[in-house]
Amino acid sequence: MTHRVAIVGAGPSGFYAADGLLRAKPDLHIDVIDRLPTPYGLVRAGVAPDHQGTKAVVRQFDRLLAQPDLRFAGNIEIGRDLSWDELSAAYDAVIVATGMVIDKKLGVPGEDLPHVWGSWRLVGWLNGHPDYRQAPDLSQVKSVAVIGNGNVALDVARVLAKSAEEMAKSDIVAEAGAAIAHAPITDIHVIGRRGPEHASFTNNELAEMGRLARTVAVTDAKGLDAMPPASDPTPERLRKTKNLEILKGFANNKPGAKPVTVHFVFNTAPVAFRPGEVDVTPNSVVGGKLKADLVVTCIGYTGQDFPRRDDVFAVGWAKRGPTGTIPTNRAESHAVAQQVMAWLKPRDPKSGPDVLPIAIDAAGWHRIDKHEVAAGSAQGRPRVKLTDWQALLDVAQGG
Ligand code: NAP
Repeated sequence: MTHRVAIVGAGPSGFYAADGLLRAKPDLHIDVIDRLPTPYGLVRAGVAPDHQGTKAVVRQFDRLLAQPDLRFAGNIEIGRDLSWDELSAAYDAVIVATGMVIDKKLGVPGEDLPHVWGSWRLVGWLNGHPDYRQAPDLSQVKSVAVIGNGNVALDVARVLAKSAEEMAKSDIVAEAGAAIAHAPITDIHVIGRRGPEHASFTNNELAEMGRLARTVAVTDAKGLDAMPPASDPTPERLRKTKNLEILKGFANNKPGAKPVTVHFVFNTAPVAFRPGEVDVTPNSVVGGKLKADLVVTCIGYTGQDFPRRDDVFAVGWAKRGPTGTIPTNRAESHAVAQQVMAWLKPRDPKSGPDVLPIAIDAAGWHRIDKHEVAAGSAQGRPRVKLTDWQALLDVAQGG
């Protein structure tokens, strides 16, 4: 008999936890469970579709899926198909790797208007997540306001700002790519509530905004001489100092020099949304108002709760909140895997039947993968995603 561990959530933190467990005990039985029929969580649904280099991390996870004692069980929702109690009763330990998939709210008037979108929903649409197939109407969108100064804000601004040619090698869903290409977008304002020295952009992602084909990045030179907080650790200060240098380069650019202008606007917070415009804090460099036919809030996420018990261990965003890049998870999930091993060590493995309902297994996922990659190769793209639940299930089941 060997211990059985359930990992709920087949995203990066879940796979890195599986990796840590298998390194410690290669014959451990691990079930990686996901509510979607597809694995890879944030890599498939959250990483911007033009950042294929980042998505390449899944090759490591593919190797884990091929391990004989690791099962993928897709299309199973804990709480619907199986309760958390049933899971705990059947497994020796449970790892929660469910991420954070609910857009945080700003709490300002007008946030529920149809042109105000949370980044999770928008990026889910761009990435073909089957729960987010409803499209925003971009046909009349000239001005966009992107709220937030993190990498998600850059992802959103960049994908809206790139030309169709720049997106050609991405796996953006065709409808989204076409809607963006045909939208009459001329201005995108990326709005931060604090100064540029506090922005959480990473350097490469910010610099990329200065290299776009149809888009010029601009900002006001005022405020760019600020210093990063002295209390920050050195890597943070270096990152922020480099951001300020990059922004100084943007301050030399002319708005309108290319068909689309991305304006970085700091010390500005939205106070109300109305159709076609955002009211912002009155001391903003843009005055008290901004035009915005589409607003995308990129201000972070919250997650669903899960039982806090001794046999339940959290990893990734479910553990630490919505911060950190994909590689951040490796060391952290490995450390949690060590804690799980310590928990299992003095305990006899549970016996009992396999409680997993019939699921989409790794072979089912490979059928989806093959189908999508074949459809993509016909167009010179990495894949064309299936976005419909039933189509995903049909292909996975060999239909
Ligand atoms: P983030 O880096 O935490 O940025 C969130 C932004 O929202 C911050 O600028 C924050 O401002 C702002 N914000 C929060 N609440 C607000 C409010 N009520 N009003 C106005 N602004 C508000 O998070 P993220 O962009 O969602 O990214 C999540 C994590 O994924 C980050 O660690 C990020 O680096 C990572 N990620 C990485 C990549 C990549 O490597 N390419 C791509 C996407 C995401 P304050 O700073 O003032 O709180």
